Amino acid sequence: MTIYRLGVLKGDGIGPEIVNATVDVFKTASRKANIDIEWLTLPMGWEAIKQYDNPLPEVTTEGLKNTHGWILGPHDSASYPPDHKKNLNPSGVLRHTLDLFANIRPAKTLPGIQSMVGEADLVIYRENTEGFYADRNMFVGHGEWQITEDVVITAGVFTRQAIERIAHAAFQMAMKRRKKVTVVHKANVLRLSNGLFLNICRDIAQQYPEVTIDDYHIDAMAAHLARRAKDFDVIVTENMYGDILSDLAGELVGSLGLAPSINANDTIAMAQAAHGSAPDIAGKNIGNPTGIMLSTVMLMEWLAEKHNDPKLKEMGTYVEQSLAQSLKEGIKTKDLGGHATTSEFAEAISEKIMRIE
Ligand code: ATP
Ligand code: MG
Repeated sequence: MTIYRLGVLKGDGIGPEIVNATVDVFKTASRKANIDIEWLTLPMGWEAIKQYDNPLPEVTTEGLKNTHGWILGPHDSASYPPDHKKNLNPSGVLRHTLDLFANIRPAKTLPGIQSMVGEADLVIYRENTEGFYADRNMFVGHGEWQITEDVVITAGVFTRQAIERIAHAAFQMAMKRRKKVTVVHKANVLRLSNGLFLNICRDIAQQYPEVTIDDYHIDAMAAHLARRAKDFDVIVTENMYGDILSDLAGELVGSLGLAPSINANDTIAMAQAAHGSAPDIAGKNIGNPTGIMLSTVMLMEWLAEKHNDPKLKEMGTYVEQSLAQSLKEGIKTKDLGGHATTSEFAEAISEKIMRIE
């Protein structure tokens, strides 16, 4: 039997509370599914600054190399000492150095949570390494140039290689879902760059004849999402459009505070909630762990596929169903109008997992 090793980076603010709650429910689920998981806690954020003078020290980056994937808690990079701020946003550094090219962000209605757009179940494939967030890009460095005091030029980078791989990832996911891909771009104005993105997606589509493809300009897409989110299945887009659209989609189906994501390439994946470290409520045991728990469910699905081990998916399903059931019963944290603490919410989920037949 494979022993899976998963990294745990707790981070700042509510990070330790919500990540501990997540590891607790997954420990229950792994016992239920009879899977061996070794949890490897590695320092990240303020804890690591205090210990190693670095929010993402070598012990952590080296330790991650021995894992099958990991949970990244939120970090409050803006509060780091000035010399650490410039280059060390831990999630940014991990995405870049490990080339985690796909940021996969589902937006799905949850039971007991008010949605502005009715039932919806879509997933955004955001290209994570270039586009209009071309900082640290191999072609343009930091991608912004101060021409005069009053003039700045900024770069967008679009390459065939990066577009092809995100397109393939999106179409492969569509094959497992409702077989529809929507490409989001602005090729009417940014003809070369966004035109390349659109044309390559259309080319790749020919390799997936069962999948239907359509496309929208980013501005129109924002309106379509608000009006009829339920019609969309897989959305593929460049870095900045994907960042903005996924916040919109997350909020439309409930709350950005509930939105999960993973960052992945072909060999490794990192679970990361969409929200930040919420320093205003840290240490009170009231943070909502739903986003990071559902991100970890995604990580399990990804690992199940990668290692061809359905038990990993089963384990994620235990958590997903028990979490949904808890919300349905009104067991909610304060941000959702409930009274449950972070640990009570996690305990409710664990109890339900244990009772699954
Ligand atoms: P970042 O720059 O790290 O993304 P942010 O400015 O987007 O941070 P958040 O840390 O996400 O801000 O917090 C925004 C607000 O939402 C805060 O009032 C915070 O308390 C609340 N919040 C965020 N995440 C959660 C959560 N998981 N549970 C409860 N409240 C949350
Ligand atoms: Mg934020």
